[in-house]
Amino acid sequence: ELAQRMTERAVDVIKFFMKQGQMLKPGDVIDADTAELVANEFGHTVKRVAESDVEEGLFDIQDKAEDLKGRPPVVTIMGHVDHGKTSLLDAIRQANVVSGEAGGITQHIGAYQVEQDGQTITFIDTPGHAAFTAMRARGAEATDIAILVVAADDSVMPQTIESINHAKAAGVPIIVAINKIDKPEANAQKVRTELLQHEVFVESMGGDVLDVEVSATKKLNLDKLLEAILLQSEVLELKANPDRTAEGVVIEAKLDRGRGSVATVLVQTGTLKTGDIIVAGNEWGRVRALVNDRGEQVKEAPPSMPVEILGLQGPPQAGDRFAVVENEARAREISEYRQRLAREKSVARQAGQRGSLEQMMTQLQSSGLKEFPLIIKGDVQGSIEAIAGALEKLGNDEVQARIVHSGAGAITESDVSLAETSGAAIIGFNVRANKQARDASEAAGIEIRYYNIIYDLVDDIKAAMSGLLSPER
Ligand code: GDP
Repeated sequence: ELAQRMTERAVDVIKFFMKQGQMLKPGDVIDADTAELVANEFGHTVKRVAESDVEEGLFDIQDKAEDLKGRPPVVTIMGHVDHGKTSLLDAIRQANVVSGEAGGITQHIGAYQVEQDGQTITFIDTPGHAAFTAMRARGAEATDIAILVVAADDSVMPQTIESINHAKAAGVPIIVAINKIDKPEANAQKVRTELLQHEVFVESMGGDVLDVEVSATKKLNLDKLLEAILLQSEVLELKANPDRTAEGVVIEAKLDRGRGSVATVLVQTGTLKTGDIIVAGNEWGRVRALVNDRGEQVKEAPPSMPVEILGLQGPPQAGDRFAVVENEARAREISEYRQRLAREKSVARQAGQRGSLEQMMTQLQSSGLKEFPLIIKGDVQGSIEAIAGALEKLGNDEVQARIVHSGAGAITESDVSLAETSGAAIIGFNVRANKQARDASEAAGIEIRYYNIIYDLVDDIKAAMSGLLSPER
């Protein structure tokens, strides 16, 4: 490898070592000082680099404004369980499959594209905010627009509120799909009114959030919903440069018995081509084939297009970012570096380095932030409101408690990922975290604090806010 980098013949390098009385064969390891000496002997200039330099330049290409072209919007559907997220995703897809297309066979690869008025829209095929936040927690901002599905016979429910908070935390605009309007007991107006309380103001209520009444099962107004998405995306002026190496995000990945590691990625910029060498999270590979959402092989994937990639060495994780790199050596180097880093991190975590309220405050203070973000879960709505009220009064000029999300019920994995992305601490009042949430918080180093007396809770937060929190009890 050293010979290769110096563009010298390996045999010459080996001969050089022999003259020094050292017998080496290709693949043997030498230390950095020896390598430097050899390189100098061969008349090369050595630049020592830090290990992390292997990542330098990745995700760093700056596009010129004139190279940017319009790209389709990427949409995620969120909302309360049973409000019709899956039905809506299926209905939109079915209604827009071009007839005769590959026998109408569709593949579930984690995302799909449909056409409306000659324009393309990309849907992330995993409904709910769990996938959405899992991705965000890994630093991937894949979604441009969130469709908030609210069933007109059930109106605003706890996960509706969670979804709103997730979308807001991500700064993603919401379009409200008021679903199940075919039902006799449907009350769309009630939905609009209740959304007001959560600061989602639809147009008829004097706001600027688009809303569409739909029925997923009766396929009513689906085109109107798609038009609303196009309208919203026009406002967003979504752009990317298709004429460069591709970058994007992993939506799903798995180990397939027949096909090896398969990852569905969403290209965010550039055009991904077969033969490209990519790094995705800790993994790398040469793109052997690209498969679209209809199961067809394609040669390339432009911005906002989801495709399955075949040819990776191992499956990356959902939410990992990927980028095309110049050669295999670089790809391998980056993935080896990342894998080692991941191992080291997990060792460090096991050693019990967890973020505490105190550490959070110190970080907040040093970052100059004036808000103390909190997620509050409680047994009943009444106590949550009491806590929220008390915390609001605590603020002073320097720091203010900000409740990112609150709700009744156990602390879930979704709360933990929201905490991770918003930098919040989690407070449980008379509720506990479920197993998944405990594992997730452990892994992410997020502190969960439990209380059953409001006074204690408020006291601790007050102390944390004044930087005087006593050590964890
Ligand atoms: P999800 O949990 O949000 O993904 O909800 P599903 O898509 O699984 O839908 C939950 C239930 O509501 C299913 O029984 C659907 O058939 C039903 N459903 C969904 N959309 C509609 C609709 O527009 N009208 C009626 N009447 N039922 C619907």
